[in-house]
Amino acid sequence: MATRNRHKFRELTALLRVPGVRWRSLTALPGAPAVRETGRSFEANAVKKARAVARATGRLAVADDSGLEVEALRWGPGVRSARFAGSHGDDRANNRKLLRRLAGLLPRSRRARYRCVLALASPARVLAVARGAWAGRIADGPRGRGGFGYDPVFVVPGLGKTVGELAPAVKRRLSHRSRAARRLLPALRRLARAA
Ligand code: IMP
Repeated sequence: MATRNRHKFRELTALLRVPGVRWRSLTALPGAPAVRETGRSFEANAVKKARAVARATGRLAVADDSGLEVEALRWGPGVRSARFAGSHGDDRANNRKLLRRLAGLLPRSRRARYRCVLALASPARVLAVARGAWAGRIADGPRGRGGFGYDPVFVVPGLGKTVGELAPAVKRRLSHRSRAARRLLPALRRLARAA
């Protein structure tokens, strides 16, 4: 799994359970490359990370590139979501900046969506790319302690709760990441059967 983000790793390993596949994160592979996310799209970054890690390890790799898009920010911060408030990738600072930028906007102007792109690569080539999105809106303030990143300020339509207030199993059923994972599963299962 081409990530050092323990939250992503935990969510993805729960979503991509395939008999015969055992996942390891980059933290368990000390020599693995640090890939700079210089792409302009989630697709470009996911493919770049998956290819680099598959080549460096000689194994299959899955990479996740994901982020938040907010209509009032012209669908930003997008691929810059982790570094919205600065290169430190500080979730609290990112949420504070987001809430400040949307201050005073009514709910209908706070539309947002999460996006996730998963890429699966072998050392030789990219085998599959899968996408998922989750529409919602940005809350007036943070609520809940679950999840990570923008979850305390992302309100799920119909539930009236932020993702930070959801049980992990509920996030796992509804999220952008789970939608992408469900689309990636057939390719992974085929590979595991053929191995
Ligand atoms: P990257 O894919 O490593 O560039 O980082 C994705 C960034 O998007 C994270 O640091 C979070 O800020 C945000 N993000 C992606 N997925 C989620 C999620 O499921 N919940 C909350 N924030 C997320």
